[in-house]
Amino acid sequence: MSEATETERSALPLVAEGLTKRFRQGTSTVEALKGASLAVGPGEFLAVMGASGSGKSTLLHLMAGLAPPDEGSVTIRGTDLSALSDRALTLFRRRNIGLVFQAFNLIPALTAEENITLPVVADGRDDSEVADRLESLLARLGIAGRRRHRPDALSGGEQQRVAIARALIADPAVVLADEPTGSLDSATGQEICRLLQELCNEQRRTIVVVTHEPTVAAWAGRVAVVKDGRILSEFATSGFRDSHALAAHYQDIVSVSAAAEGVAS
Ligand code: ADP
Ligand code: MG
Repeated sequence: MSEATETERSALPLVAEGLTKRFRQGTSTVEALKGASLAVGPGEFLAVMGASGSGKSTLLHLMAGLAPPDEGSVTIRGTDLSALSDRALTLFRRRNIGLVFQAFNLIPALTAEENITLPVVADGRDDSEVADRLESLLARLGIAGRRRHRPDALSGGEQQRVAIARALIADPAVVLADEPTGSLDSATGQEICRLLQELCNEQRRTIVVVTHEPTVAAWAGRVAVVKDGRILSEFATSGFRDSHALAAHYQDIVSVSAAAEGVAS
């Protein structure tokens, strides 16, 4: 879905169009994204899959409004992020985008529940609705018994659950996760994936997970393959019986593109 119409753009939780991002490094310039487009539907669980250095984190940063693209646009629930002032963008992000990172990014001095409510407290929305949502998230994520613990007293899986609760506390339109299982052992990583899939289904959440692991991508409904800053291909996971079959398909896509480059050069 590279060319979204105006109607689609306003109806969809997330549309990225023609994203280009360059980084200057000394005298040279790295083009991390080269016109990447992506549209994500309501309640969709999308995995963005690609090798290290392919541009996944850059794409996620741009979609989260953490950095501006050099070209292209990001539209969330009909709002073009480039139209917002810095202040408006900060508020918009807090209310509409939940972020989950590989390194959890919890604040060490705060308890689990203080970490979870931080985004809404910062937004001046520390009301009874937030209190109710905190209770239901603690229960749903199985961390109610850990609410007064600081991050260093929690396992990696528990810390990521806290980070997921923090991402959901403002009831955002979109949750973006960058290698959310990258710091976890594989069994715990799979539990986190299952949780994300369940949250997507139960709450009709829109979730985008960036990963290089087929065992993570297999939990999504759709996979977008990114290579050298471009989206090469998108496919539904329903046609693959397991993560091995999905990994083989991913390899086919990547190697066909490498062969095509060989012919072209
Ligand atoms: P991935 O997350 O898929 O590993 P990244 O988006 O982090 O890929 O990086 C894509 C490319 O852009 C890489 O070549 C990386 O070195 C470069 N890059 C990313 N961020 C920066 C930055 N802040 N400064 C310079 N180069 C960067
Ligand atoms: Mg990355």
